[in-house]
Amino acid sequence: MKKYRMNKNTLNNPNGNNEVHEETCHYFNTMNSFEELGYHANCQSAVLEAKRKGYPKADGCKICSLACHRG
Ligand SMILES: [Zn+2]
Repeated sequence: MKKYRMNKNTLNNPNGNNEVHEETCHYFNTMNSFEELGYHANCQSAVLEAKRKGYPKADGCKICSLACHRG
């Protein structure tokens, strides 16, 4: 299981998406405003959790969660 966080700040994303990062990502500890998503087996599960928390534009980071990156 890996720990995931979602960036609440969408200003740096060209599509206004809330990027989801795993704990090994270089961005994980650099976010000023984030939502804790807890531990997940994969990024699909983490993105689903972010959407469940009310962020329909949650999307995997293209560096750490490429399999979940849509745009
Ligand atoms: Zn990342």
